[in-house]
Amino acid sequence: MIISMKLHSTREEIDQVTELVKHFGYKVHSIEGEERVVIGVVGVGDVTACFESVESMPQVENVVRISAPYKFVSKEFRKGKTKIKVNGLEIGGAGFVVMAGPCSVESEKQIMQAAEGVAKAGAKMLRGGAFKPRTSPYDFQGMEEEGLKLLKKAKQATGLAIITEIMSERDVDLVAKYTDVMQVGARNMQNFMLLKALGKCGKPVLLKRGLSSTVKELLMSAEYVTAHGNPEVILCERGIRTFETVTRNTCDIAAIPALNELTHLPVILDPSHATGKRSLVPALSRAGVAIGADGLIVEVHPAPEKAISDGAQSLDIPQFQKMMVELKPYIALWEESRKLDAAVATA
Ligand code: PEP
Ligand code: MN
Repeated sequence: MIISMKLHSTREEIDQVTELVKHFGYKVHSIEGEERVVIGVVGVGDVTACFESVESMPQVENVVRISAPYKFVSKEFRKGKTKIKVNGLEIGGAGFVVMAGPCSVESEKQIMQAAEGVAKAGAKMLRGGAFKPRTSPYDFQGMEEEGLKLLKKAKQATGLAIITEIMSERDVDLVAKYTDVMQVGARNMQNFMLLKALGKCGKPVLLKRGLSSTVKELLMSAEYVTAHGNPEVILCERGIRTFETVTRNTCDIAAIPALNELTHLPVILDPSHATGKRSLVPALSRAGVAIGADGLIVEVHPAPEKAISDGAQSLDIPQFQKMMVELKPYIALWEESRKLDAAVATA
């Protein structure tokens, strides 16, 4: 952090600022010019509180933070990409991973048909919510443990790894018993008690970007999980809320390469929630591959017109199969580029 004092600050004013900075646990290195004093702040302390207190001091002109507020998730902490092992798969590694399945687990027949269909088309993980975060309390809230049991059954039948949403810290042990990856939904991205609990859950976490969250806030939420003991976090861009209404959300496609610059964590794209429209899902999926995502999470339902949630954005199984075939040449290029990256990294 660098603090610029106002022109011609007095010795007493400068001392007040340095005292305050030291109070937060930092050391100071000052550069005293003829007219202006600049104070460099170094060390470890409560950075947000210190920044806010210093910024509000009348004798301070400007405060600039120079290092990122997150540590464990930053590129400085680890240069290569984090590879997360899930049921024999690797996310963030040499393969592009597609996760697919319905928004909600609705019945045994539905989840089995979905699982078999997406596995046949080349998906490696099955998604399906058993705990559903619905805008209305009157809408279907999920099958809860019954749904988790059905997901396990689908895994046994197809070999697909499972990803399902966890909404409350209360259910962490229950959900961890059934799933391979714990999904934190957009609405819970800043549920800090949940994030802390997931630090100790022993399973990888997929963290979705909040509806109105910045990329940095997403990274700070990932930092919660890692700082509490779990380095296995996958990030997910799923669109953000803007003034645009043609799509359900606005897909911040640049967030993916931006995240790849800022963090070593794997990043995937959810083209379903990002658009809200099944017709747009294949194009966005291609964009996700091209832009360097590590995978996709796509909503697929055996009969989308009958889906209890998110039918309009769900592909049916033939549509998903077609999309997977069409993605093949893009994924082949992606694999080439990963090989080149790996060769450069080891050179
Ligand atoms: C979901 O994956 O079905 C879901 C609720 O997604 P999001 O949290 O991104 O809205
Ligand atoms: Mn959904």
